[in-house]
Amino acid sequence: PVVTRFAPSPTGYLHIGGARTALFNWLYARHHGGRTLLRIEDTDRKRSTQDAIDKIIEGLDWLGLDFDEPPIFQSDRAERHAEVAHKLLDAGHAYKCFATPEELEAMRAEQRANKQPMRYDRRWRDRDASEAPEGAPYVIRLKVPTEGETTIHDQVQGKVTVKNAEIDDYVLLRADGTPTYMLAVVVDDHDMGVTHVIRGDDHLNNAFRQLPVVRAMDQVEGHWPDPVYAHVPLIHGPDGAKMSKRHGAVGVAAYRDEEGVLPEALFNYLLRLGWGHGDREEISREEAIKLFDLDGVGKGPARFDIKKLQNLNGHYIREADDARLAKIVAARIGEQADEALLAKAMPVLKTRAKSVNELVDGAAFLFAKHPLDMTEKAAGLLDDEARARLAGLSKMLHVQNDWTIEALEATTKAYAEQLELGLGKLAQPMRAALTGTTTSPGIFDVLVLLGKEESLLRIDAQAA
Ligand code: GLU
Repeated sequence: PVVTRFAPSPTGYLHIGGARTALFNWLYARHHGGRTLLRIEDTDRKRSTQDAIDKIIEGLDWLGLDFDEPPIFQSDRAERHAEVAHKLLDAGHAYKCFATPEELEAMRAEQRANKQPMRYDRRWRDRDASEAPEGAPYVIRLKVPTEGETTIHDQVQGKVTVKNAEIDDYVLLRADGTPTYMLAVVVDDHDMGVTHVIRGDDHLNNAFRQLPVVRAMDQVEGHWPDPVYAHVPLIHGPDGAKMSKRHGAVGVAAYRDEEGVLPEALFNYLLRLGWGHGDREEISREEAIKLFDLDGVGKGPARFDIKKLQNLNGHYIREADDARLAKIVAARIGEQADEALLAKAMPVLKTRAKSVNELVDGAAFLFAKHPLDMTEKAAGLLDDEARARLAGLSKMLHVQNDWTIEALEATTKAYAEQLELGLGKLAQPMRAALTGTTTSPGIFDVLVLLGKEESLLRIDAQAA
């Protein structure tokens, strides 16, 4: 059975690249009826924070990416990592290296001077520990085969081969007995039963260093199969450079809080960012589970396109349940918001909105306080002539009992005809008086949403 995992390092917020990796792992497992797990890679104690862990979990939760087991914390597993390092040591797949920091610095300086690749020169690989001074500190290094080559049949990158001689005998266990990141990842993936490693292609090089540990442990213990790898190209900005802050928001929370994106829109957008199914843009969660597979993941980097995200967001806003949108918008507006009224207004507010922010702006007139703030344009529409017309309209509306769109439209039309005016000429000052702006939903919708009493208060405040 398929087991995937998302393994973030909690050193900041959940960024969109990480969220996409999590999404692909989640979808792959859901598609294949497998399980997906979360591992918090918090071994860098100085950089890992609880706040970052909370933000990552909150972001994943918001996107609806659930995991099949409680998260695993890498830092809890240091003893097990050390145990594996010692097993490798005992079986001859690893060795003690007593090189001092000064010696290693001198080695690197020489390599630099000779323009050689900077790599540990395996100086302790064939020496015996007895050659080291009594009680000298040591690290445990992996004994990577120096002959032959290692090939990975990556599900995204295809067949990738590296000469073993190019893989360094890197450190598994530090002198203080703590495991390195490289060792921890491999041991955890094995112990969690991970079958498929789906992650950013910035980890492709690591795979060639991690696989020798897997293969050595398979010889030592058995049952350490190679995982299937899928290294997904990173997300790039519109200019083709790796996505970074200068391209705009990179945190998932910023898309929610600042860009006003719905989780299902970001879900769909991240899915399309690097994965495709024909030219389909709108793909629901259920369809994504049905359709997702690694063969649809592109080899080239995907470019982030905020317009596409906004268009998808508009689509999902129109699809979304009005009560749910009302709740989201009410939370943004604050205490003067009336959730029931927002839900009633939502069908007209959401027709053109591409973000929650636009819904919030569109809803502002509903909760405006007296006297209404007027935009300059709106104020400009309310000249003496317009005010007189509003006074006439007000008289008719005061005696109007049927406060429905149809009835209000009939009354207003009749009054416009009486004045020999187009309806628009009358609607403009009405809109200014009712909303303080020159853009709003249809004017009869506005009247109905505000109700008779509030509508007349606003009209009368401008009528003369
Ligand atoms: N913790 C690593 C990262 O955040 C991911 C390691 C992995 O997926 O193997 O980049």
